Amino acid sequence: MRLDVAVAHGLLASAQARLARKAHEEIQVALRQVAAPLERGEDARPLAAEMIRTMIEGGGIGLAAPQLGVSKRLIVGLHQSEGWSFVLINPVITKRDKHRVWGREGCLSLPGKLVGVRRHKTVTVEGHDVEWKPVRIKARGLLARVLQHEIDHLDGRLMTDGEEPDPSRGTRERKLEHVVYET
Ligand SMILES: [Zn+2]
Repeated sequence: MRLDVAVAHGLLASAQARLARKAHEEIQVALRQVAAPLERGEDARPLAAEMIRTMIEGGGIGLAAPQLGVSKRLIVGLHQSEGWSFVLINPVITKRDKHRVWGREGCLSLPGKLVGVRRHKTVTVEGHDVEWKPVRIKARGLLARVLQHEIDHLDGRLMTDGEEPDPSRGTRERKLEHVVYET
């Protein structure tokens, strides 16, 4: 049987749209779930590879499995300044600095949004690599922020949940007001 080319294209387009919609719905659900831990020995390599590819294609520096619609405790990231990447299975924050710092961050799941969030200045994260070897990362600065952002994804939290206004803006505005009133 021959199918009219235009009809065939139409069917293909609607099937693709349906698949895209289904993927979108699955991702939206996964983004709000508490993800399940991976079972010891589970092969995380195919998913980790897919995540690293998505992260790099999207120009990101971190990604969590729920962002691909997979509700599992797996994150990947890049340490840009030192030029290494990591895969962490079942990551847990085992130590956190009491001091938190405000900074703007973006998220591949919330395109175009930049949100101010306070994060612990330093964190120690423990988990396993893809070979199931124990890993401990002591992080500060941007890496500490990335790890907290990605681990939040595993608990169904998005950066917008912790959004806080720029603490320095108020100060600057108050200072400006002060100057205006003085003159
Ligand atoms: Zn994110």
